[in-house]
Amino acid sequence: MKVLLLFGMGLLTASSHGQAQPTVRIQLQAAPATHSFSCRYTLRLPAADTASTIVLHLNRQLRLDQVRAPESAAQRVERVFYPYFADTVQRVTVRFARPARKARQLTLSYSGALPPRTFTEQAELYSAHSGWLPYRPYREYDLVQYALEVDVPPGYEVRSSGPARKRRRNRWTFAGTTSALEPTALIARQFANLASPRREISVCKAGAAPVAADSALLRKAEAVIAFYNRTIGRQDSISHFRILLPGTNANAFGLLDNATVITYTSFDVQDRGDLLILAHEISHKWWGYGSVHDENDWLNEAFATYSSLLYLQASGDTTGYRERLTQLTESAVGTPAIIGFNRYAHAPAMYRRVIYNKGTVVLAALRARLGTEKFGALLATVAKQRISTTGALLAVTEQVAGAPTRAWLLARLSE
Ligand SMILES: [Zn+2]
Repeated sequence: MKVLLLFGMGLLTASSHGQAQPTVRIQLQAAPATHSFSCRYTLRLPAADTASTIVLHLNRQLRLDQVRAPESAAQRVERVFYPYFADTVQRVTVRFARPARKARQLTLSYSGALPPRTFTEQAELYSAHSGWLPYRPYREYDLVQYALEVDVPPGYEVRSSGPARKRRRNRWTFAGTTSALEPTALIARQFANLASPRREISVCKAGAAPVAADSALLRKAEAVIAFYNRTIGRQDSISHFRILLPGTNANAFGLLDNATVITYTSFDVQDRGDLLILAHEISHKWWGYGSVHDENDWLNEAFATYSSLLYLQASGDTTGYRERLTQLTESAVGTPAIIGFNRYAHAPAMYRRVIYNKGTVVLAALRARLGTEKFGALLATVAKQRISTTGALLAVTEQVAGAPTRAWLLARLSE
């Protein structure tokens, strides 16, 4: 019954965009003292999806304890190489008997430990780069409606991208819609919370008292979000946003669920580079729908990079804008075209030069061609429509700016 209730809750919050999404129920039991955990992960496909096979990948470091799939005809677990993570993974394949009488459902039970750099003495982070969730191959950033239940020992608390839907003793329940890898649980004995006056923007810091740099981070996040809500996000604005600071030291990443995780211990928005990272990651609220496996990743990374530069320029740092754009332009010289770019045929540095840098240079040139106002209208439309392919971008470009600009953009992306 509980399962049904939780799935029902997810359905009520179904996105109006696109077709029905899979629902996911994640039951995490965390043992912070040893940074280990066990998890039960249930994927349920939309009723209309009568796929005869479901495939899930699981990190090879985790122990797969059980696979359950009602009405399945066959199950197989094997080790395969997965290029996106450049690593071997456990591939679980379940075949179903036909015809489907119920929605397809698959549950994996597994256990293991968090990888290095996802925890400290004070906190541990279960999130997009912690390797703790299964995913459908090449669909790890597809949207899912999730319910996340986290059990922690007494004395620990849990934070996520939004407030808990429910808390009962040591179980915290969160829910929302985000990409399959992104349901997030940050666990610590104590948290410091900084919030904007109306509490719509907050900084949540694990395990340590806030310092001046955290207050500066909150103020900059407010300024960046206000700018984006006037520009790229004006048709689909941010109403609430959370920045999670786990205190680990690895990277920074945006979450589609109106949150970003910054794990640099020395992050300081007074530094131009850090400010650009913050603005880049916040903008992934809009730029997160292109496939990360092919050229369409430029719709994520170049758009986020150029958005951060737009903020920098609007905030008055026109020198920084020019310098950074010059660096990116030089880095993009002599690189392959964006259209047709295969990240798996190149070293990571070339991926960055093409998908991030060259894409940003193309967007700057498009703005120069259209003027800031029309370019802004185009970006806002692309964001609102959650454009996920370069072909769809070209079509919107034609609607907003005309056929010659579409042809011009296609040529820039092809050279
Ligand atoms: Zn990015």
